[in-house]
Amino acid sequence: MFAETDLRELVEFSSSEPVLSVYLNTDPTQGNADAYKLRLRNMLKNVNLPADVNAIERYFDLKHDWSGRSVAVFSCAVQKFFRAYPLALPVHDFIYIGNRPGVKPLINLWNNYGGYGVVLVDKQGARLFNFHLGQLVEQQGVLGETVKRTKRGGASSFPGRRGGIAGRTNAVDETVERNMKDVVDSAIRFFEENHIRRILISGSDDNVALFRSLLPKAWQSLVVGTFAMSMTASHNDVLNQTLQVGLGAEQQREKKLIDHMMTSAAKGGAAIVGLEDTLQAIYNDRVQTLVLAENFHQEGYRCTHCEWLTSLPAKLCSICGKEMTSVADVANLAISAVMRHAGDVEVVGTDESFEKVGSIGAILRY
Ligand SMILES: [Zn+2]
Repeated sequence: MFAETDLRELVEFSSSEPVLSVYLNTDPTQGNADAYKLRLRNMLKNVNLPADVNAIERYFDLKHDWSGRSVAVFSCAVQKFFRAYPLALPVHDFIYIGNRPGVKPLINLWNNYGGYGVVLVDKQGARLFNFHLGQLVEQQGVLGETVKRTKRGGASSFPGRRGGIAGRTNAVDETVERNMKDVVDSAIRFFEENHIRRILISGSDDNVALFRSLLPKAWQSLVVGTFAMSMTASHNDVLNQTLQVGLGAEQQREKKLIDHMMTSAAKGGAAIVGLEDTLQAIYNDRVQTLVLAENFHQEGYRCTHCEWLTSLPAKLCSICGKEMTSVADVANLAISAVMRHAGDVEVVGTDESFEKVGSIGAILRY
């Protein structure tokens, strides 16, 4: 599984020698191993990094098991750096050469499909799931006391405190509430252990409402949606529903973020749009959240000394006067710089108004 530590490592890796990054789509509905390998050879045929090309071809010939729907591979042979991550979700074929790994497709997957916690809840218990990048990582069942619906009186009533039918109803409610509190406690532990970043809840309206009301505020804010599903559904069915509802919620969140950023930038607030202003803000460490379109890339220049970035031709750095070197994509270096300075990166889908202002911008820290 591709974990946060893997993402961190890729973002922090840099080399004076080129790093070769290759994303290969291996979706079984789109072909077979021979077809994927042919596409890979075509992608690599003009790459003049023989040791890295060799390392990647060896991986596909000897190690890769062709499970999953895509794979991301990173090689910097001079530094003996090689990483391969099979992924359960498809990505587009993509090749990138630079002094850092090309991470944008992975960030995009991470934004859309990373860290889902799902709760299927009823009156007696719950099933908890962690789905990450389209895969089941962990699941757990919580089973509380049986809720007696039909039996009158008996052990679940409290003669002396309450009587008759009302007493039975209250006892049932108490059992349900006790079960729900146990479910919430287990769910919180599960969310914490699995580094859950967004939550989906499934169940009857009553149960979903009760679960939500018992959830502490900090966790409530991570609930991105609800859906209806049988308590006995297969984890594959739960996964598919999660991806669908989750992606819808993510698209809405992206739209809000873009609107907020553009409105704020237009009013002179703590946001900016456009490539050069964004690169300058990144250099000044003012970026809280870098926002860029999935298809945005731009050749440019990087200062070999202070890492200043620009898309405008420059031989010498405007900041420190040292030599500039050309780079295939300043967007990829911008992503890495923001993440290394504890900022967030949002890779967003196509948005017409965002395109008009350059498909890149940022929410600023100040
Ligand atoms: Zn410089």
